[in-house]
Amino acid sequence: DGRIVLAGTPIGNLEDAPPRLRRALAEADVVAAEDTRRLHQLLAGLDVKLSGKAVAYHEHNEADRARELVDAAESGAQVVVVSDAGMPTVSDPGFRVVEEAALRGIQVSVIPGPSAALVALAGSGLPTDRFTFEGFLPRKAGERRERLHELVGERRTMVFYEAPHRIEATVQALAEAFGAERRAVLARELTKFYEEFRRGTLGALLEGVREVPPRGEIVMVVDGAPAAPPVRPETLVAAVEAAIAAGE
Ligand code: SAM
Repeated sequence: DGRIVLAGTPIGNLEDAPPRLRRALAEADVVAAEDTRRLHQLLAGLDVKLSGKAVAYHEHNEADRARELVDAAESGAQVVVVSDAGMPTVSDPGFRVVEEAALRGIQVSVIPGPSAALVALAGSGLPTDRFTFEGFLPRKAGERRERLHELVGERRTMVFYEAPHRIEATVQALAEAFGAERRAVLARELTKFYEEFRRGTLGALLEGVREVPPRGEIVMVVDGAPAAPPVRPETLVAAVEAAIAAGE
C-alpha cells in the first residue's frame, strides 16, 4: 500500500542516520526534499542510491506539492519526505503533507531522527519534565517583544531556534524580557565536531556572545519563570491587622 513516510535526517553527523532511513530512501518511489541538492549530498554521504525520483518541495509550493504527493501515495507509491536536516515539520516544511494525508485517510509513518530542539534540551541541564518549543522568534522587533511578553510568566523550560547572525539581538531580547538573572543554555553545532553548551545566566551569556560570537547553528534553552512565592493566609491577616493598627 502507498503511504507517506516522514523521515528525520541527521543534524550534522551522518553517523546518526539509522538503517531504516537508508532503506526507506533506497526503496522509495518518490523522495520529496526541501532542497534536492542537499538530498543528493545526503545520499552520497550515506552511499545510498535512489531507485525512485527526487522532487523538491518548500514553503512556496508546499500546498500544491502536498496534494500531488498524497495523490501519489493514494495510487500506491511509497513517498518519503525529508527536510534539510532533523525532523521535517519541526520549523521545517512537511506539515502540509501530513495534514493532507490525515484528511484523506492516507497512512503516515515516521522514521524518527534527531531534532535539534530535543538534543539541546536533553543536554541543557535545565528541567526537562515540562517544556515548550518556541521555534524561531519573529524577526520584527515589535512582534518579537510581544511574543516574549506572552512568555514572561511561562514556567516550563523554553526552547528557541536561532541563526548565528541574530543570536546577539535574541539573547539581549531574552535577557530584557526574562531578566539577566534567568538561567539559560546556548547549545551550538550539536552532534558536530564543534558541539558546545554554554551555560549561565542570560546576562552572562550575552556578555559571552559579545566577546566570542558563536558560529554555526544554535538552540537557546531558557529556564522557566520561578514560581511566585505562595501567599500564606497568616501573612495576609498580619498585613491587614498591621494596616488597621496603623490607621490606614
Ligand atoms: N527540522 C530541524 C530540527 O528538527 O531540528 C530544524 C530546522 S530549522 C530550519 C534550523 C534551526 O535548527 C537552526 O537555525 C538551529 O536553531 C537549529 N539546528 C539545526 N541543527 C542544529 C545543530 N546541529 N546544532 C544546533 N542547532 C541546530
